[in-house]
Amino acid sequence: MFIGHFAVGFALKKAEPKVPLGVWFAGAMFLDILWPVFLLIGIEKASVVPGITVVTPLNLEIVHWSHSLLMSAVWGTLFGAVVYWRVRTAKAFLLTALAVMSHWLLDYVTHTADMTLAPHGARMGLELWNSLAGTLVVELGIFAVGIAIYVRMVRNAARSAWIHFAILIVFFLVMYVAAIFGPPPPNDQTVLAVSALALTPVIMWANWLDKKLGLHTF
Ligand SMILES: [Zn+2]
Repeated sequence: MFIGHFAVGFALKKAEPKVPLGVWFAGAMFLDILWPVFLLIGIEKASVVPGITVVTPLNLEIVHWSHSLLMSAVWGTLFGAVVYWRVRTAKAFLLTALAVMSHWLLDYVTHTADMTLAPHGARMGLELWNSLAGTLVVELGIFAVGIAIYVRMVRNAARSAWIHFAILIVFFLVMYVAAIFGPPPPNDQTVLAVSALALTPVIMWANWLDKKLGLHTF
């Protein structure tokens, strides 16, 4: 899944407003931040095979260190512990840990058989990516719900803040459309990893925007 992960970040901000939006985003996409790093150091493996699914040409051959359920619990606990150190609420720890683990569930629904419960486990996936309409309806639906929950928290933000917010949403949608309908990326692990990591500045962008909308509490 792509932008559906950000929907989880938008929605969970309401559950614990003390955690900035960018930190929620970092949690929800944390497995996809580890994945390119693990590709670069060679412990995970991916290639580009046009047509392997209807929606994406990504062939995730080994992703169990970043993307197995067991490891998502490990990464979630570590991520939650760092957030707790800063925010000091049990809710922040628990929900940011669950945000990290939610990534596994959403990817399990969308991916073909490349997700595992634990490293080296049986590979599985519900293959939503083999239905373009299903993918768009589910993912854009989740994304819209996440945004709706987030914007209802905003009180008296300046017009310029709303314009910046709209730019962020358009950015996500353009990235999404390009990922699904654009040409496949080159079949090169380094290029895949670097382009995945290129999305991480959105964490800082979201924190800045959270502040502009009056919701940043750090
Ligand atoms: Zn993922």
